[in-house]
Amino acid sequence: MDYKRLAELLFPNVTQTPADMESLYPARQLPEGAKVTRFAPSPTGFVHFGGLFPTTVAERLAHQSGGVLYLRIEDTDARREVAGAAEGLIKTLSRYGIDFDEGAILDESGKVSDKGIYGPYKQSLRGPVYHVYAKQLVSEGKAYPCFTEAAELEEILSVNKKEEIKNTDWQAEAEARRAEMLKAREITMDEVEKNIAAGNPFVLRILADGDSERKIKFTDLVKGAMEIPENDEDFVLLKSDGIPTYHFAHAVDDHLMGTTHVIRGEEWLPSLAKHLQLFRYLGFKTPKYLHIAQIMRLDENGNKKKLSKRDMGANMDDYTEMGYCPEAVCEYVMTLLNSNYEEWRMQNPEKSYKEFPFNIKKMSVSGCLFDFAKLEDVSKNVISKMDADKVTDAVTAWALEFDAPFGKLLSENRDMAKAIFSIGRGGKKPRKDLATWRDAKPYMGFFFDEYYEVESPYPDKFPKEDIKSVLTEFLATYEPADDMTVWFDKIKSIAEKNGYTTDMKAYKASPESFKGNVADVSMFLRLAVTGKVNSPDMYSVMQILGKEKVEARILTMIEKL
Ligand code: GLU
Repeated sequence: MDYKRLAELLFPNVTQTPADMESLYPARQLPEGAKVTRFAPSPTGFVHFGGLFPTTVAERLAHQSGGVLYLRIEDTDARREVAGAAEGLIKTLSRYGIDFDEGAILDESGKVSDKGIYGPYKQSLRGPVYHVYAKQLVSEGKAYPCFTEAAELEEILSVNKKEEIKNTDWQAEAEARRAEMLKAREITMDEVEKNIAAGNPFVLRILADGDSERKIKFTDLVKGAMEIPENDEDFVLLKSDGIPTYHFAHAVDDHLMGTTHVIRGEEWLPSLAKHLQLFRYLGFKTPKYLHIAQIMRLDENGNKKKLSKRDMGANMDDYTEMGYCPEAVCEYVMTLLNSNYEEWRMQNPEKSYKEFPFNIKKMSVSGCLFDFAKLEDVSKNVISKMDADKVTDAVTAWALEFDAPFGKLLSENRDMAKAIFSIGRGGKKPRKDLATWRDAKPYMGFFFDEYYEVESPYPDKFPKEDIKSVLTEFLATYEPADDMTVWFDKIKSIAEKNGYTTDMKAYKASPESFKGNVADVSMFLRLAVTGKVNSPDMYSVMQILGKEKVEARILTMIEKL
């Protein structure tokens, strides 16, 4: 077969050569050790927690090494594309600390446009580039056209779709296709000419030189050394509309765009042999690979399951409504990504997670477990370290979007809100009441009469008379100008007077000798003033509420008793 002639027949309009491409995409001038990584989403929907994961790795590796992180839109499957998804992805990722240096980015008008000289960064705009390399492969006898309908079928039953046809006999299907494939390899120039003259579409297949009985040694930077069977499948490079498959586009783009490290989900591992073959055929240097394990979750029975698209916590956009702050989510992702992160955090409580020396070797090989309880924990810590201004602004912004009346109250009473969020903030042991902005209302809503509500009655064991008398005596002596010690001394003396001890030691030794202790007396006041059994520091609460409200609430309670 005259491969050069075949190449001309198939790609008569391609005049550029791989050498032309190399000069259009010059090697990057970066410092030694700088890594070039990318996020390469198919714009089919939202950012999944499982997608934020590899992307954070890509961001860290690039920026920690003085390299480049770029965004490439893999929109070669028009059937699956969702309008506006690319814009959404970019915005969401930016919220989670992932900002791209290059690639498809948002311009001022909010539309996706290219930044950088290695574009276009949208695969649908790169047709001519792929065709240059397709032509090269054909002219070297490494790829051939396939005009049969079965080829179309294969395109539809591509790797990703295997799942869906589980019910058919996959083995028989594979054998039939192999026979088909071997027959297709034998195509003659005559047949090609006839088909082309008739305007018949073709798919371009690689001519695989592998033997699945033989193994290739390969080292994945996360998974370590492995042996994978060679590829013996003549997989499709170009679909009949001339659009490349993921495999082909991956090799061409990551080569031309100078990617040094490909970070992607482990669902691509089964395709790796194909990719290695392609890089070899094309004469490209293979990038380093990091295949990241799927994120798991525990189901109701405690079994590990893949965190699927529909699971709670999968869609990153939901976190905003749930009220998680991005800093906390990033912090949580870091704890999952590197096993020594939490230790580092303890030693460096004030530093940004971006200062952590991220280490590929400390990544989990087998997959991380997604756990809301852990996220909440991390989040409480993160929020506890923020200053009151930041918390006030964030809670207000969240509420304005998701709980407008509450948001309005907060913004109209900003000073008061800030004073509330200042309670127990700063110092060595800050309060950890908030895991999400959504937690703010249950925590401090009682400051506003609109949300003040007595949540539970006084425990029956305390005589109503005692409670009444405590509340009444407190009112009689209450003086907002008192400092905290004087204020508390007054409560203590009210306690003693009513037979509630202030001597906690004595109380613990024989609780039956007392009606109760000073903590119970504080609870009488707390329930009246805040409506709750637990609340932030009562002295601060009363200071912020002010004399009028404190007295009014206590009076109402006395009347109710
Ligand atoms: N478009 C592919 C995906 O969304 C990209 C995989 C890769 O990072 O190479 O799965």
